[in-house]
Amino acid sequence: MNDCIFCKIVRGDIPCHKVYEDDDVLAFLDISQTTKGHTLVISKEHFRNLLYVPKDILAKVMGAAQKIAQAQVASLGAKGVNIINNTNEVAGQTVMHFHVHVIPRYSNEDALRLEFNSNKIEKLSLPAIAEEISKEM
Ligand code: 5GP
Ligand code: ZN
Repeated sequence: MNDCIFCKIVRGDIPCHKVYEDDDVLAFLDISQTTKGHTLVISKEHFRNLLYVPKDILAKVMGAAQKIAQAQVASLGAKGVNIINNTNEVAGQTVMHFHVHVIPRYSNEDALRLEFNSNKIEKLSLPAIAEEISKEM
């Protein structure tokens, strides 16, 4: 994709601080550095988001994400890691080229707030919700 910022990074048209590379995957430091070592893992091929990525490529990206998380713990002294994917604008995706954030965590005061607030969904409707999802798989 000509006007995609991550495709430009893959082509070397825009520089990056590379962490890992193989035939299908590239990982580099996120320009925003939410915490020290915040890394993006991307497929080299352009896919709009996780919904469109072939399974074998997804497995390679997640395998690299695990290795990077292990390295962040071993080398940077991270005490934990958040691995995050944002799919589509409503979920916070701003760059429409599939990527996974690997964000090392050092303390509860890190500049990242993730909250799982409880919803008012009626407990009795849970079987129907589970059925709706599973019938599509
Ligand atoms: P999203 O919100 O789509 O999940 O995350 C996109 C991420 O890409 C953001 O965290 C943003 O900081 C990062 N980003 C955007 N443009 C560039 C760039 O040119 N270089 C690098 N290294 N990161 C970028
Ligand atoms: Zn792209």
